[in-house]
Amino acid sequence: MNDNQRVRNAFSSIKAPDDMIDKVYSSINSRKNQNRTRRIIGMSMLGTILTGTIVLAVMRFQISNNFLNVENKEYSEETQNSISVIEHNNEMQNKETIRVNGFFISYPFEKNTSLYSLGEYAHKGIDIIADKGTKVLAVADGKVTKAEFNSAYGYHIVMEHTDGYETLYAHLQEMKVDVGDTIVTGEEIGTVGATGMATGPHLHLELHYNGEPVNPLEYINE
Ligand SMILES: [Zn+2]
Repeated sequence: MNDNQRVRNAFSSIKAPDDMIDKVYSSINSRKNQNRTRRIIGMSMLGTILTGTIVLAVMRFQISNNFLNVENKEYSEETQNSISVIEHNNEMQNKETIRVNGFFISYPFEKNTSLYSLGEYAHKGIDIIADKGTKVLAVADGKVTKAEFNSAYGYHIVMEHTDGYETLYAHLQEMKVDVGDTIVTGEEIGTVGATGMATGPHLHLELHYNGEPVNPLEYINE
């Protein structure tokens, strides 16, 4: 028996105007619809919260894998030789050579695990092998907060990004930005060098979150 029939049966013994049954029936139906609407609103709110969480997870801070603008894509003999040495050493130690977007990472990010080490980090960033003079590109939109020289990092640039992230580009030959400049991803900020404590030309790139170094390789947008 459906609702319509139930209402009609209930009213069969009562003398009522002909349109009464239809009015009662439509009022029952509208209440049902309200409940359904409330359920749908509840479901869509839950959906919005879930989607928001997923979007937030996906929207986590990311950096570009385009660290450098390598125009001719051919390394100099000197750079090619150092890549060969790294590949050989890694092979001897059964380690895989890290490449990101064709760039060779000669020294990965390392948190110190040794009890006897002096600092917390063995290496606070990643070293990307490149010829001297290769254009260094900003890996995220941001603002320049430092462009200076010190004995360890040589000429280096620090950029501030959103959500407590910062990047540091070290051992530069030239710096092409000033403190306060607003930079977009992919913009040239300087050139690769070997200034400061560096054994050869490379870009030392650090990523900091709330002042602490984190592994840039875990934040690359590929
Ligand atoms: Zn380094």
